[in-house]
Amino acid sequence: MGTDFRIVLYHPDSSLAREAASEAFERVADLENIFSDYDENSEVSRLSDAGNGEVSDELWEVLEYALDVSARSEGAFDVTVGALTKLWRKAFRQKEFPSERDIEVAKATVGYKGIKTNPRTRNVKLKNKGMRLDFGAIAKGYAVDEAMEVLRDYGIYVALVDGGGDLRVGNTPPGQKGWEIEQPDKIVNGEPTYKKAWYVNTAVATSGDTYRYLEHDGKRYSHIIDPRTGMGLTNRRIVTVTAPTCMAADAWATAASVGIKKLLTVDLREEGISIQIIEE
Ligand code: ADP
Ligand code: MG
Repeated sequence: MGTDFRIVLYHPDSSLAREAASEAFERVADLENIFSDYDENSEVSRLSDAGNGEVSDELWEVLEYALDVSARSEGAFDVTVGALTKLWRKAFRQKEFPSERDIEVAKATVGYKGIKTNPRTRNVKLKNKGMRLDFGAIAKGYAVDEAMEVLRDYGIYVALVDGGGDLRVGNTPPGQKGWEIEQPDKIVNGEPTYKKAWYVNTAVATSGDTYRYLEHDGKRYSHIIDPRTGMGLTNRRIVTVTAPTCMAADAWATAASVGIKKLLTVDLREEGISIQIIEE
């Protein structure tokens, strides 16, 4: 998933701890084979190529939540943004800004309403021509949750799972007041400053990092795309979300980076999802 995973855990039996951690990493590797869009043989890549197919339980579960976030954010988060990310990723690699025409063509494939799902057969159909799914803003969080689930199956509750900055933390480590996390605090002269925070039994995800961007005509374009314009974001905004699951934290952090309504953030708070936005 284009990132490193890290697990920290406490348990008196070190061989059990080792076994649990290695099984958790295996679970992440299995999920990578489903969700990776860098791997052209992943389940998601094959589904995007075919435009139609029966999906695994995992893909079904994450797609259901992704569609929910897509609809509630009114397309700020859009799981069908794949053709645009492909275009922008190439631009990042070649350090060459995409043409207006290429952006228009890719944008025309995007729109979560063009996905048809059949709960009975678990068949998924991508109705727009050239439409590609992209789980880059949600699957990492899901993998973090699943790794934590493996640890719990081993009876390990004092643990932290870190998927490239998307975190899930369990019970408090011995002698601590929680898991100490460095959290973006302010943006000063274009760079974030950090503060310490302590978390227990929650997930935390941050979006809008300042280092994954493409510079063009003095403007920075993020790897997060506004599906309505087809362009990488140019706002300098860092979003931190805490939520009961890392899948929710990951997805809503991306949605709020693009922009969601104030009223929705109030509803989300009632679901235990809290969104913090900092801007320069
Ligand atoms: P990070 O990988 O830095 O944690 P995100 O969680 O925000 O960042 O995920 C960014 C990835 O999500 C992009 O690389 C792309 O694959 C995908 N993506 C970009 N824009 C959107 C969007 N508007 N909706 C859904 N997914 C997106
Ligand atoms: Mg995200």
